[in-house]
Amino acid sequence: MSSSADRHWDSETDLLVIGAGAAGMTAALVGTLEGLRVVLCEKSEMVGGTTATSAGSVWIPGSRQSETAGVSDSIAAAKTYLAGMLGDDAFDERLSAYLASGPAVLDYLERRTSVVFAPPPVHPDYRNLPGAAIGGRTLGAVPFDGRKLGADFARVRPPRREFMVLGGMMIGKNDIPALLQPFGSWGNFKHAIGLLARQARDRLGFKRGTRLIMGNGLVGRLLYDLRRLAVEIRYRTALKDLVKVDDEIVGAVLTTPTGEHALRARKGVILATGGIGWSHELRERLLPENARLHSLAPDSNTGDGILAGERVFGEIDRKLKSPALWMPSSVMKQPDGHLSVFPHIMLDRAKPGLLAVDRGGERFVNEADSYHDFVEGMLRSNRLPSSVPSYLVCDRGFISDYGIGLIHPGTRDLRRFIEAGYLFEGGTVGDLAAKIGTDGEALTRTIERYNQYAESGVDEEFGRGTSELNRFNGDPANKPNPCLRKIGPGPYYAVAVWPSDLASSAGLLDSRGRVLRSDGGAFKGLYAAGTDAASVFRGTYPGPGTMIGPAIVFAWRAAMDAAGVLDNYPIPTD
Ligand SMILES: Cc1cc2nc3c(=O)[nH]c(=O)nc-3n(C[C@H](O)[C@H](O)[C@H](O)COP(=O)(O)OP(=O)(O)OC[C@H]3O[C@@H](n4cnc5c(N)ncnc54)[C@H](O)[C@@H]3O)c2cc1C
Repeated sequence: MSSSADRHWDSETDLLVIGAGAAGMTAALVGTLEGLRVVLCEKSEMVGGTTATSAGSVWIPGSRQSETAGVSDSIAAAKTYLAGMLGDDAFDERLSAYLASGPAVLDYLERRTSVVFAPPPVHPDYRNLPGAAIGGRTLGAVPFDGRKLGADFARVRPPRREFMVLGGMMIGKNDIPALLQPFGSWGNFKHAIGLLARQARDRLGFKRGTRLIMGNGLVGRLLYDLRRLAVEIRYRTALKDLVKVDDEIVGAVLTTPTGEHALRARKGVILATGGIGWSHELRERLLPENARLHSLAPDSNTGDGILAGERVFGEIDRKLKSPALWMPSSVMKQPDGHLSVFPHIMLDRAKPGLLAVDRGGERFVNEADSYHDFVEGMLRSNRLPSSVPSYLVCDRGFISDYGIGLIHPGTRDLRRFIEAGYLFEGGTVGDLAAKIGTDGEALTRTIERYNQYAESGVDEEFGRGTSELNRFNGDPANKPNPCLRKIGPGPYYAVAVWPSDLASSAGLLDSRGRVLRSDGGAFKGLYAAGTDAASVFRGTYPGPGTMIGPAIVFAWRAAMDAAGVLDNYPIPTD
């Protein structure tokens, strides 16, 4: 922390935004639109952070966009749902501000920028509770044509390598049927040919495909608008420390390729560096011991915003249900040395014919529930025998039909994955159990019970296939239950999965987007947004988009507050 009132400044601006993910880019855009001079600093050479590698969904109840698309939702229904999930006392000032501002932020962005979202007809909430939405509450980022960015396309962080095919082509859930069965229908054929032709053209002029979807589409759009408004983006420029004078943050010291740079920020500093990420110190302090190994954050997210906030006595909120949100991930070292960490989001876990077991060969969770709930099952306190790692178990037919993790559906030769220690194979259940170090008799009993449930269509232990979410990610062609089918005969297969954090929920406390001090007062001039701010949902995961939704909404609120216009959007007091 630096605190001299009469220090030398290398440059000045109105608003300094640290970190160029969804939160930082939105804050920089909105601050500029509201007439502030803004500098956006990004530690790496690319914008996008975790956001660029995400699905790019936002959970914003009661939007006009959903109403127009015919899948309307209401804030009242969302409140019922959240009360069931968080309890009535969850409705603090921040959550109320979030719910009230969300639709206004979507409208603001749609009116004044190219950042637009659209609701898919079905995208269910993650829990089966009163007020849960099946569609209309989660909106997806609209795809973007990366060619519009010209040379700056190279500045958009690519998606995770594991999620691209054919040398950098992005594929979404809706592309998969066409690519797997191009001759299944005329529609499939046209779609597949369109994708492949575009990719072939793209590869002549670009390092990867320019059809940007999901989080990459969102980041592409944000960068397009930042360029259009000539916002100053400083790459390879990292926050080192905040400068505090009395109770006000007046600027920051930045590390740049040419040395340290002191930047004065007349209207404030917004921290948006992507949360805990790979910070060894914060992982040790805040995450459970058996969940510290793998993060889905980019390397450049190292907890800098939270740590700098703490150094000026900002308070970290720890009274949360979970300090992070999780995905179960399998891990494989590739021949070129790259460590593939593959998050099992929705392609395999809910499909019929897969189960998950712990070291004792027992199931411990509804495998088709949300990725966060799956890992919460793994981490349930003091589980013995341990379920870190746990194993996804299936047969050969399952891999052919649906794939598992890094192994695409229809893959004929599995040797590469077996030899790399990623896939375990056993001719019998006992053989497989020996390979993964579980109790063979227990695993045999577990599979027998699962197969009985497949026959009756009722999972008597965990209710697989009973929720909208389960069925959405299952296989509708599989009857009677889209998530259950018999496993066997052999050979049998297993893949190990580990907890990996997709976002942190422990972060700095804030109200108008401002960081609160440990004595409860708010700092003047310091804001936190995105995963640098504490989870507005108290460390729970209500549905798809509950990280980027708040990232964008609180970034907007922070920038509007810094520009002095937030009070033009009062929050109803009901
Ligand atoms: C596979 C996957 C899918 C996901 N899908 C969704 C989804 O659909 N919806 C959803 O709501 N959430 C999703 N998430 C979570 C979501 O992506 C993140 O919570 C969100 O993108 C975080 O945004 P952010 O702006 O806070 O941080 P980031 O997007 O991570 O951006 C932080 C930026 O700050 C930069 N930075 C770090 N330190 C410094 C420093 N000292 N100085 C300057 N810059 C710095 C980083 O380089 C980075 O560019 C997903 C996550 C994963 C891994």
